[in-house]
Amino acid sequence: MEVFFSLRDSIEKISLAQYFCELCSFLAPEEDNAEEILKLMLNSLYLLSNNKSTQTIIKSVFELRLMSLIGYMPSLVACDTCGEFESDTMFFNIQTGKLYCSTCATNGYETGIGVITAMRHICYAEPKKIFNFSLPEDGEKVLSYITETYLIQLTGRKYKTLDFYRGLI
Ligand SMILES: [Zn+2]
Repeated sequence: MEVFFSLRDSIEKISLAQYFCELCSFLAPEEDNAEEILKLMLNSLYLLSNNKSTQTIIKSVFELRLMSLIGYMPSLVACDTCGEFESDTMFFNIQTGKLYCSTCATNGYETGIGVITAMRHICYAEPKKIFNFSLPEDGEKVLSYITETYLIQLTGRKYKTLDFYRGLI
């Protein structure tokens, strides 16, 4: 029904779309209902095709929401040790998917609360709203690093289409 013709405008956009396809072909369940994943794919391609959000945000939302849908949702509600909802700086353990406040952290990737708020939004918002947020450019980069590394770590493999996309940007 929708051919996403304008993806052809840009090799970057086509490459990112191919990465989304590779992720789905490897990670989407073959027999269970994959309707939510299909919707995520179609919405991501639509936004990418029409420049409705930045490529970095679309990529991060796709990665983290897909991980959540297939059973790898990180534990972002509060600090895993003390239950603190937020501190200015928080620490996300990319291997375990657990979050720590600045007082309790003994490990994890240090990030500002803005990126954590974005990650919570991606995981917990209703499907139609998951792309409705923005971050400053440096925040987008941190978010992208976290979602990509988390996906690669937990799925335990590399993606050729991601390497190709990374070679372009
Ligand atoms: Zn804590």
